[in-house]
Amino acid sequence: MSNRGKRYLMKKTYRGIRQNISTKKLLKDELWVDSLSEGGDPLWAMAYPARYAVGMANLGFQYICTYLKELGVAVERFFDDIEGDRSLEEGRPVGNFPIITFSVVYEPDVKKMLNMLNRWGVSPLWKDRAEKREPIIGVGGSLSVINPLIFSHIADFVVLGDGEEVIPYLVKTVRGFSETGDRNEFWEFIAEHPSIFVPPLHLDMLRRGETLERKKSFCLDLSKAKGHALWVSPHTVFPDTLLIETQRGCFRGCPYCTIPSCFGRPRFRQLKEVIDDIRKASKLGIRRLGVIAPESGDYPWIKEVLKEIRDARLEVSFASLRIDNISDLLLETLVEGGQRQITIAPETGDQYFRVCCGKNFTNEHILDTLQKAQKIGLRKVKMYFMLGLPNEEDKHILETAKLIMEVKKNTGMNVVASVGLFIPKPQTPWANMGFSHSTYKNKVSLLKSAIAGLKGSEIRVQSAREAKEEYRITWANADDTLDYFYSDVAPNRNKTVEQLKNLGF
Ligand code: SF4
Repeated sequence: MSNRGKRYLMKKTYRGIRQNISTKKLLKDELWVDSLSEGGDPLWAMAYPARYAVGMANLGFQYICTYLKELGVAVERFFDDIEGDRSLEEGRPVGNFPIITFSVVYEPDVKKMLNMLNRWGVSPLWKDRAEKREPIIGVGGSLSVINPLIFSHIADFVVLGDGEEVIPYLVKTVRGFSETGDRNEFWEFIAEHPSIFVPPLHLDMLRRGETLERKKSFCLDLSKAKGHALWVSPHTVFPDTLLIETQRGCFRGCPYCTIPSCFGRPRFRQLKEVIDDIRKASKLGIRRLGVIAPESGDYPWIKEVLKEIRDARLEVSFASLRIDNISDLLLETLVEGGQRQITIAPETGDQYFRVCCGKNFTNEHILDTLQKAQKIGLRKVKMYFMLGLPNEEDKHILETAKLIMEVKKNTGMNVVASVGLFIPKPQTPWANMGFSHSTYKNKVSLLKSAIAGLKGSEIRVQSAREAKEEYRITWANADDTLDYFYSDVAPNRNKTVEQLKNLGF
């Protein structure tokens, strides 16, 4: 390649992102739902360890940016696919920021976060950063509520719970640090908040088996939450969609799920606030809504919300829908808004197994609902299944194959079966259950061969390697140093449980 070619590429690298959309265009195409000032103090890097398209589709990430801006902080965004070490907004190098906070939602994002730090030339360990006077790193997001021990050697601090309750204190403390530059003092101050885990002060205590009495902080009054995203963009996985929240927590007791055990009791936004958000979207010319909730159909005023969406002639998608929550009104609203696909999570085709999973609905119920959906105009169904559930036998997997075939036969819809391996998660009722990684490939083969040749269907399978990595990361504990994330060592689940208990969980 000629030097000119190299320079051109470098220029593109600094200016743009890997998906060939310049940062300038990304910013220009963002619609601001609320007008908030830019600039402020201190400089604060807010990073999402995935692509722009994914990070901007995360309401939690957008909330934190909003809250920081409301408090007058100069927050600028970083994503995994923005080349170089520059912020999206001003193209500022990451080294200019005294603090970088990551929103980490999924286990694979931990490795992406480490890769971003490496790429930026920022030490991944808090110990090294302190010696080299590199930026403070904070972590929040779902994973820090499920198992904050993952970040024991990486983060200077980990927020345990909802940002609404912690951010004002955090901002005050970071402002103090910006003035003094005294890291030890920063750690001491920040540790005074009971919902912040501060590894530089707490790690050795945990390793010695001492108790810390940290506690998760939950925003129980959702009128304190922003409720909707700050930006709408055509370049996200939910293009041109305003994300609005209706609920946190879940009253269903699915024993594999982290929501009931990790994210606080169920709470709902007031209907009026949700309606106001829908009207705001309409007024701004936004045509699509994305409803964010652990289980959208459990919202007590879902009928009123659907009616408002229909009256406003908006398109809507839901983050999740239980089959026993899908009403005719909901199906009609989906179709009238232009949706052609529905996503459900039967988990298994075996009814007894499904009840054990906390999902008390039958295969007949699934077929009836999907037939209705097809008649109304939906053309595609995506179904989530798990393999490797506790006490699973081949006959249960064959029941899953049977359900997939019956859905195809009875509805004629395009069927996408998305299959993953059951991964026991910390703090859940099934935390102690086995992880059947070694037999996963055989289970997948059995399922695939049972539906081989089924036309108009597709099976998407989580790889065994991905599942194992997710399992290992989700169970990391304070004894696991950086090498652990790049090794094949089995996690010590008992140790993780003990340390989480000592942390105060
Ligand atoms: S799987 Fe869904 S319905 Fe079940 S507990 Fe989790 S969020 Fe609630």
